[in-house]
Amino acid sequence: MSETMIALVTGANKGIGYEIAAGLGSLGYRVGVGARDAARRETAVGKLRAVGVDAFGVPLDVTDDQSVTDAAELIERLAGGRLDALVNNAGISGEMDPGWVQDPTALDLEVLRTVVDTNVMGVVRVTNAMLPLLRRSASPRIVNVSSSVGSLTRQSDPDIEIGPIMAAYAPSKSFLNALTVQYARQFARTNILINAACPGLVATDFTGFHGPRTPEQGAATAIRLATLPDGGPTGSFFEDDGIVPW
Ligand code: NAP
Repeated sequence: MSETMIALVTGANKGIGYEIAAGLGSLGYRVGVGARDAARRETAVGKLRAVGVDAFGVPLDVTDDQSVTDAAELIERLAGGRLDALVNNAGISGEMDPGWVQDPTALDLEVLRTVVDTNVMGVVRVTNAMLPLLRRSASPRIVNVSSSVGSLTRQSDPDIEIGPIMAAYAPSKSFLNALTVQYARQFARTNILINAACPGLVATDFTGFHGPRTPEQGAATAIRLATLPDGGPTGSFFEDDGIVPW
């Protein structure tokens, strides 16, 4: 009998992360629901279990070293010392100016610091803490949930409609994309595949529930990348329609 695959999704209590957890669960993965708030975490775990997902709660604030260390220890204990898929989904836009913009010429450095701490350093913190567990998998997969607003090619093309100026959020996703490439280079001679995923514009808390896509649709690319076959792509940036240019 094949072993049950184990996944951890950060920021899985709601939105796209919740649907990534649900999708992996429906594929038979045992899913760690990474979430910082106890009540929101337990509610999400309960909802997932109610639809048949083998879910367990993982207290996890991606900005907190101790919380991340404790999360790795919990997974080590509860999931047999192994992790097959890590989805770094937790992310924030940071405080927005009126009109839902972040003007670079008036950017509050604390906002920038908080966004980078969550969207960039949080991913490094969690990934590196989980690596010993991932290295014990036969087919480790890491997915960084990014955004096409992190695409410098698209941001600098005047013919592409890419939404408001977001001087903290958009560069945090460019930074995350750049990190994804460095990890892929480091993993080049290993069985670890790491890619970035853009969910598209999804109606969640993040967007004030504006956007044409459902969280389930937004989860699809991350689920595909978390379940890539051996020999699949690595060090790339994907959306539903294919590769997103850097
Ligand atoms: P969301 O509904 O606001 O969910 C964000 C999740 O991240 C929540 O579970 C939140 O937990 C968690 N989170 C935030 N800071 C955290 C921290 N320090 N530690 C642990 N968890 C933390 O947003 P979403 O739309 O699903 O976004 C998920 C990802 O998709 C993000 O990385 C976002 O940048 C990306 N994305 C979204 C869109 C879109 O259109 N929605 C487009 C492109 C990319 P709490 O409930 O505790 O706050």
